[in-house]
Amino acid sequence: SQPLLVAGEVSKSFGTTRALDGVSLDVFPGEVLALTGPSGSGKSTLLHCLSGILAPDAGRITFDGRDLGAMGDRERSALRRDSFGFVFQFGQLVPELTCLENVALPLRLAGARRRSAEQAAGELLDRLQVADVAGKRPGQASGGQAQRVAVARALIATPRVIFADEPTGALDSHNGEQVIRLLVAAAKERGSAVVLVTHEERIAACADRIIAFHDGAVAVAFQRTAHAGGT
Ligand code: ADP
Ligand code: ADP
Repeated sequence: SQPLLVAGEVSKSFGTTRALDGVSLDVFPGEVLALTGPSGSGKSTLLHCLSGILAPDAGRITFDGRDLGAMGDRERSALRRDSFGFVFQFGQLVPELTCLENVALPLRLAGARRRSAEQAAGELLDRLQVADVAGKRPGQASGGQAQRVAVARALIATPRVIFADEPTGALDSHNGEQVIRLLVAAAKERGSAVVLVTHEERIAACADRIIAFHDGAVAVAFQRTAHAGGT
């Protein structure tokens, strides 16, 4: 298949720090791609460029053949809203809303009726094994439960790509691995690709393909499963 998201020779500096130095990579529809490497190796900067949050200094990012740099801000925001889902380390849930309402929110913002949005949210919470926190506020859920709720919220509108930046960074390794396994399984069921930034090897091992960064460049890339990638 054709790649969905393509980075071509992307470079980005912050002052004199070269965060990315001519990085090229493809993300294929439905694949789970892990970006690994030590702290400061450029993983998050690449994720921000791929998701249209940060403009590269040089190089090009295309999504579905469309150049992100050639879009206006409004068009890029619409693309992020309609086609991308995001999971961060913490803080992405609205504390005043219940977990169910948090998950339903993207559908509500897209114009869905409350009843149908909340039904879909409830089913996804159940799929992620956190149906029991549906009526609670995020602050009353455990860290692992809150991250599963955040995963549900990122997935609810069936984005083409989910960007997850150290989503297990605040969890112990058992909980972290469980969150990633549920994220990967639910994303595959919906056909969403996942770009997962992690410095943890056990977490990266859940991906179809791993790209390891060092000093802003691709150091090693390897395929774990046979079917993903350019098949
Ligand atoms: P990683 O995600 O692998 O930890 P980052 O992409 O966050 O790496 O950072 C790559 C390099 O760019 C690091 O040296 C970091 O300090 C620097 N950097 C990242 N973001 C900024 C910023 N907003 N301002 C200044 N330097 C930054
Ligand atoms: P900076 O770190 O330079 O402040 P911003 O993320 O604020 O970068 O983006 C600056 C401008 O670059 C935005 O107003 C937008 O027009 C453009 N831009 C943002 N993301 C991209 C991208 N992925 N490719 C090309 N241009 C982008």
